[in-house]
Amino acid sequence: MNITIIGTGYVGLVSGTCFAEFGVNVTCVDKDEEKIKNLRKGIIPIYEPGLDELVKKNINQGRLKFEIDLSKSVNLSDAIFIAVGTPSRKKDGHADLSYVYAVAEEIAKNLKNFSVIVNKSTVPVGTGENVSKIIKKINPSLKFDVASNPEFLREGSAINDFMRPDRVVIGCKSEKAKNILKELYRPLYLLETPIIFTNRETAELIKYAANSFLATKITFINEISNLCEKVGANVNDVSIGIGLDGRIGKKFLHPGPGYGGSCFPKDTLALVKTAQDHKSPLGLIENVVESNDKRKKSMHKRILNSIGKSKKKIISILGLTFKPNTDDMRDSPSLDIIPALIKNKCDLKVFDPEGMKEAKEYFKKYSDKILWCKDSYEASKGSDALVILTEWNEFRALDLKRLKKLLNKPVIIDLRNIYNPLELKSLGFEYFSLGRPQT
Ligand code: NAD
Repeated sequence: MNITIIGTGYVGLVSGTCFAEFGVNVTCVDKDEEKIKNLRKGIIPIYEPGLDELVKKNINQGRLKFEIDLSKSVNLSDAIFIAVGTPSRKKDGHADLSYVYAVAEEIAKNLKNFSVIVNKSTVPVGTGENVSKIIKKINPSLKFDVASNPEFLREGSAINDFMRPDRVVIGCKSEKAKNILKELYRPLYLLETPIIFTNRETAELIKYAANSFLATKITFINEISNLCEKVGANVNDVSIGIGLDGRIGKKFLHPGPGYGGSCFPKDTLALVKTAQDHKSPLGLIENVVESNDKRKKSMHKRILNSIGKSKKKIISILGLTFKPNTDDMRDSPSLDIIPALIKNKCDLKVFDPEGMKEAKEYFKKYSDKILWCKDSYEASKGSDALVILTEWNEFRALDLKRLKKLLNKPVIIDLRNIYNPLELKSLGFEYFSLGRPQT
């Protein structure tokens, strides 16, 4: 089979590479020329474990190609995937569909034979219908179908998530489209992966409902964690105690500085807007959005309260990305916390294993207040407190005795609860974490 994937970002590049690994001939298209030039040489624009080897392997085996212009490949493709960004629209928080619609127009201008156009981007209910209308208007005689195939991969474990997903969701009208997509996902059928066929609107909504549910679960435990602090309970034990209930489940019950990343913030907002547009408001999700925003915007106060009063403070920050194993900085809690600390007269020493290049772009205007360090120990030297913002594995086993010697004051503020409070106390640290009794 032959497919084209338009948009070669976190989703498009991983999906395209994994389909190639399944044996499909894939052309990945992106309007970013630099990105395509580099990809042709096997240079990967993002950090995603295992992706570089898989890209190189499939380029070498002739199944994976990269193009700037979609006209070369769309007419040879059984399916054309749209995998461009759908960020929040600045004016109202709704999903900005301009990239998706621009691709629809380009496809319409270039496609001559039947193909299934598949929305892999996360798009609000009704977008498939709009894509269909755009194509019909520009190219009325074209035979095509529009399907929805939302993507559930997680950055950091994207390849495994794509190759061994919990489920595949496909929303389409025609049998022809269904059969093409069935064939494309045949390797997953063989692994007995549940493949759910729905109408297009349902598939579109499933993606938003899934992300909003997960964001709600995180926000729930964050709020419970706040209550734990007031009543002397331990949120980690609460998580275990409720998570062992099969109806609840253990995952996504870890308190933190608020969810971030390229999906949950924008997708919760877009779902809220869709619901309002249809006069069926989702008060629960509106509260989740508000609660998470408040949490991210107030986290710096916890840090400042933990270090007490002094005129000038130097704070070490370990972790800048919204989660480990990615270099993605989009909507990371660090984007709220770092500027707020700087506003409160702190100087920062920061380190992230993979996110520093991205982060430097985001924090350009604070360059005189941030010292970029080469590792956790350099970042800790001479600081009044160490803040763990992202739970990268390498932060889980720091040499604490060495850290204590390096820090100006032995204060650790662990916003991911990765250390044991008793152990840290016995080593002479003042240790603050989330929702656990102060020892
Ligand atoms: P991204 O920003 O990493 O990549 C989008 C790419 O599309 C960019 O490289 C951009 O240059 C390209 N592009 C934009 N317009 C184009 C055009 N007209 N022609 C060719 N290329 C074009 O985005 P992403 O994180 O991969 O997300 C893509 C979609 O997948 C979004 O809707 C997102 O919500 C969804 N999604 C993302 C994730 C994730 O973890 N990142 C997971 C599941 C779903």
